[in-house]
Amino acid sequence: MSIMFRKLGILIKSIEKNNIREKVRCASTLPQLSSEKYNIKRKQFSNVESTDVNYFKRILGEERVLTEETDVMPYNIDWIKNCRGQSSVVLKPKSTEEVSNILKYCNERRLAVCPQGGNTGLVGGSVPVFDEIIINFTLMNKVISLDEISGALICESGCILENLDNYVRDRNLIMPLDLGAKGTCQIGGNASTNAGGLRLLRYGNLHGSILGIEAVKADGTVIDCLKALKKDNTGYHLKHLFIGSEGTLGVITKVAVHCPALPKAVTLGFFGVENFENILQLYRSAKTSLGEILSAFEMADFEAINTTVKNLKLP
Ligand SMILES: Cc1cc2nc3c(=O)[nH]c(=O)nc-3n(C[C@H](O)[C@H](O)[C@H](O)COP(=O)(O)OP(=O)(O)OC[C@H]3O[C@@H](n4cnc5c(N)ncnc54)[C@H](O)[C@@H]3O)c2cc1C
Repeated sequence: MSIMFRKLGILIKSIEKNNIREKVRCASTLPQLSSEKYNIKRKQFSNVESTDVNYFKRILGEERVLTEETDVMPYNIDWIKNCRGQSSVVLKPKSTEEVSNILKYCNERRLAVCPQGGNTGLVGGSVPVFDEIIINFTLMNKVISLDEISGALICESGCILENLDNYVRDRNLIMPLDLGAKGTCQIGGNASTNAGGLRLLRYGNLHGSILGIEAVKADGTVIDCLKALKKDNTGYHLKHLFIGSEGTLGVITKVAVHCPALPKAVTLGFFGVENFENILQLYRSAKTSLGEILSAFEMADFEAINTTVKNLKLP
């Protein structure tokens, strides 16, 4: 018996040692804290207390309130691993009403929040700096309606761009935007960042494609501008303020987007040209000959191509 306990003791010690080693290894690979890196001082917000967490658990349920350090960590770090926040709570609402309750409560308690979509932003806006509560929209992922004649799609803000594109493609439509992060970024994040992407040349930016928005202000008030009419010339268009506002005016909970018709064919041309002047000439010629069907025009210089070939081990 005593031999067994001694062996168990050795085993526990070695597990502890490995855990410590693992923690040290992880700590050394984590990005530096954003607050230290950019020398930012925390403002006068309240600290999150256990009563706050209990409130969130009451309105969302236990499983949609993450508080374990290992569960919260990925939400604290941005896509390129340049920024790291120190949040201890991630909330995953499923409806506008829940978002409204969360924000109303946080506003009254003076708790800071950080809205987060797919966390693919490249400028650190999607992760907290200090202990802001992360409101993640992943579970608000329902398509509400699609008018196949007008192309008006209404959906929740957490819908992943690629899923929406597949959904409308099955109905002979296409999303007006496309970007490398499409498999992870969310339409609410796209609207909040006024994302451009590969189809901008043909379909314009999101100010033209987004027909309406539903958003929740910091005090919990729901702003309903969720119109789906393209030719809407009534009054002010508050939606434009939310496009590109990165959560500073409130959080976007629903979006109405105009989806153009799916092109019958896509043709890709790959040209080798000798200098930048020739690129401009090629662009002018493509615009003149192809008109509005030109979807995208991108250039990659010698170094960019060489780096890609090398890093991706392309033939
Ligand atoms: C491989 C790759 C390619 C990319 N290509 C492009 C490109 O071509 N063009 C381009 O513009 N960007 C591009 N990006 C950047 C990024 O994908 C876009 O900015 C995208 O729109 C972010 O969406 P997201 O859901 O990931 O938002 P997040 O990264 O989670 O958040 C971005 C910002 O929006 C806020 N936010 C998120 N959701 C909401 C919401 N519901 N309400 C209010 N605020 C919210 C966040 O607080 C944050 O400030 C690329 C990124 C990657 C990794």
